Amino acid sequence: MKNFSYSRAASAEGAISLLSQNPAAKFLGGGTNLIDLMREEIEQPDALVDVTGVPAGIAELGDGSLSIGAAVKNSAVANHKLVRERYPLLSQAILFGASGQIRNMATVGGNLMQRTRCYYFYDEASSCNKRTPGEGCDAIGGFNRIHAILGASESCIATHPSDMCVALAALEAIVHVEGPGGKRTIPFEAFHRLPGDTPQTETALRPNELITSIQLPALEFAKNSQYRKMRDRASFAFALVSLAAALEIADGKIRNVRLALGGVAHKPWRAYQAEKLLAGAEARVETFQHAAEAELSAARGYGHNNFKIDLAKRMIVGVLSEMAEAGGAR
Ligand code: SF4
Repeated sequence: MKNFSYSRAASAEGAISLLSQNPAAKFLGGGTNLIDLMREEIEQPDALVDVTGVPAGIAELGDGSLSIGAAVKNSAVANHKLVRERYPLLSQAILFGASGQIRNMATVGGNLMQRTRCYYFYDEASSCNKRTPGEGCDAIGGFNRIHAILGASESCIATHPSDMCVALAALEAIVHVEGPGGKRTIPFEAFHRLPGDTPQTETALRPNELITSIQLPALEFAKNSQYRKMRDRASFAFALVSLAAALEIADGKIRNVRLALGGVAHKPWRAYQAEKLLAGAEARVETFQHAAEAELSAARGYGHNNFKIDLAKRMIVGVLSEMAEAGGAR
């Protein structure tokens, strides 16, 4: 591992100031992904600015939304009373991710910033446009079981590995950031990028910007929600396909629905096409099948990951059917 300097910030302003002093510096949260990448020399920062000392908590705001500080640990979010009551899919998604030890270390901000688990990205002997732009992509034509089926490009077919972010996409979270230019907010949908021809640029963050908190809008029907995850083994494995779903049914019709898929794209994939077809429609299996087919109509497999297309459809139909049978509530 390359040598680096370490400093610890006590405020967001202090962290941004420290980072701005060195163009090769990086923020450090729980380190559960960044340190691995540094060991493999995929990331080689000159300096780390530890932001886990920046004050952070979970608080209800005046408009009924919930603010979660970026330095709050994933386990604290999953176990928080208001999160469990109002946004059960978020609690479930976090508990489906990683191990208990990692959840105790990983921060909310770091979860958003984690990088793909594409095997070729971690292997210096392979060609990877994300690691070295212009080099090529060994996953296309290689072993691509875990790779994307939606929104991929000829430059990169990697997936985003987070479970928590899939729930945040369905909940239409707002990302609060602060940087040298001041504070601003980014809708969750716009925070992560599709790869296009610049897969090395993964988020909408500007230079030296720090995620300070996540805001969850008040969403009454999010109480009726769940997170489903299919993976190769029962624990400590990333999603092959996952689904965050919230559903409200009234008089047999779908009044509200939110769907986001994980493990299928370079970012959490909000299923807008399916949602559009479901809104106002009768809550029955045929409706769910029609919506799932529409959402996956543009999906493309790359060989080993072809199974994900059918799996994603079945997951949408299965989860919505279960929720509808339960009356739109879990
Ligand atoms: Fe690199 Fe993306 Fe190709 Fe993986 S899929 S090798 S991350 S360019």
